[in-house]
Amino acid sequence: MKKEGFGVNVLIVGHRCFRCEHAWVPRNISEVPEICPKCKSPYWKKPKTRFNKNEKKKLNSKKKKESKR
Ligand SMILES: [Zn+2]
Repeated sequence: MKKEGFGVNVLIVGHRCFRCEHAWVPRNISEVPEICPKCKSPYWKKPKTRFNKNEKKKLNSKKKKESKR
């Protein structure tokens, strides 16, 4: 039975945050953390593509910043 690999070209099993792209190897791989250890986001295991759709709509209706002057 193989343990963790050492040296070059090893495949490391771990988690990667969808938000900040932070990757880490947990002590227990079967234990999925609730939040990302780096950005503390609870949505680190979910892709953010769905968010972008809503955000794009908001971006399209930009606030008129220039009208202030
Ligand atoms: Zn993160």
